Amino acid sequence: MDMVRTTKRRLMWFFAFLTMLFLLFFVVVTYLTVSRSIMSDQEEKVVDMISEESLSRLIHEAGEPHERPFDHNLFAVVGTSGNVLEKHGEGIEAMIDGWTPNMLETKEVDQENREYLFAGKPVRDVGYVYSGIDVTEQKRVLNRLFMVLLILTILFTFAATLLSSIMAGKAIRPVIKSAERQREFVNDASHELRTPLSILSAGFEILEEEKERLSDFSKQTMDDLSGEVRRMSSLVNDLLVLARADSGKLVFEKKVINLTNLVSRSIRSFSRIVEGDGMSLTSDLKEEVYLKGDEERLQQLLYLLLDNAHKYNVQNGHIYVSLKEANSEVILTVEDEGIGIAPEHQEKIFERFFRVDLSRSRAQGSNGIGLSIAAFIIEAHNGRILLESKVGQGSCFTIILPGLSDQQ
Ligand code: ADP
Repeated sequence: MDMVRTTKRRLMWFFAFLTMLFLLFFVVVTYLTVSRSIMSDQEEKVVDMISEESLSRLIHEAGEPHERPFDHNLFAVVGTSGNVLEKHGEGIEAMIDGWTPNMLETKEVDQENREYLFAGKPVRDVGYVYSGIDVTEQKRVLNRLFMVLLILTILFTFAATLLSSIMAGKAIRPVIKSAERQREFVNDASHELRTPLSILSAGFEILEEEKERLSDFSKQTMDDLSGEVRRMSSLVNDLLVLARADSGKLVFEKKVINLTNLVSRSIRSFSRIVEGDGMSLTSDLKEEVYLKGDEERLQQLLYLLLDNAHKYNVQNGHIYVSLKEANSEVILTVEDEGIGIAPEHQEKIFERFFRVDLSRSRAQGSNGIGLSIAAFIIEAHNGRILLESKVGQGSCFTIILPGLSDQQ
């Protein structure tokens, strides 16, 4: 279910990001096109004011009582030494001060909260000629357009995120349905398989008593078959736990339990298996540790870790279990001297069906489910699991669960 939720969230952000990208592109293109078009109109106007034609008209009209051609605009002729020969407009000297264009050039000037667009060019034997127009209104319109587009982008982004969430929900619905069907199938199939497997196991137990009468070949075949049935039963049980966990049907019956007793019981029964394989199992369970949890599931958790410490150990290897309480936390460690886990695999081993070495795992009857169940049990107890491991040296799994004082 978590994966479905993550996929939905990812889809939503993906849709929202795409929409935002398109919006931004639209806003930038619109703003640039409009601002370019307005400003190039103004540039044309200001350049036109100092074109050859305009200047010759000015010269022609000079000295006569005339209407000035630049009445509403700014105009100045400056000599080569910087002296103003002719001017029209308040404060124009300050705005063109020090500007000596090499050819026809334009520039924008801010003056007393107003914005001007100037054109200037050199005039042979005279100096420089400048023209300017007030573009404050045009700039204001452009600023307003920018603000409107920005607000629209923000509003549309919100709308797009909402829409994306609805769309992602719709897109993911078939996936959820198929996942639900798959879960139901695993649940039903595991249930159906449990009964024949239990009958088979019971049958093998009965046959065990008759084993002595069988030939060596039959004995071997029976051992192989009974091993396979045990492996199948464990797989079916694991699958059932996962299917129940996914559908929220796995109920944890939590009560105050003596964890030290539970651990020492598990160690006692497990040491027989371990010692049978030439390995050793020691523990440090000095304190009496109590916590609130599901006894059956915590036992399953411990078995899963001990089973791995046994499966992935070396010949004559050692397993060490410790349990203590510190700072209102229960700390349980299971340490082995086995093959170890490479850093790049350490996070993945808690994923379902992940196995580091497929050939070795298959030979040992591993299916890559154990640690995902362990992680689920720990999560249900509000705990966490830490792993320290070195290839060729061994692994140490540390489980930290809230102690009794923390839960009350
Ligand atoms: P399984 O052991 O059934 O394959 P798990 O989920 O318990 O499934 O473990 C996943 C994988 O993590 C194993 O296949 C193994 O490669 C690796 N692994 C788990 N525990 C240990 C360990 N104590 N030492 C080395 N490798 C381990």
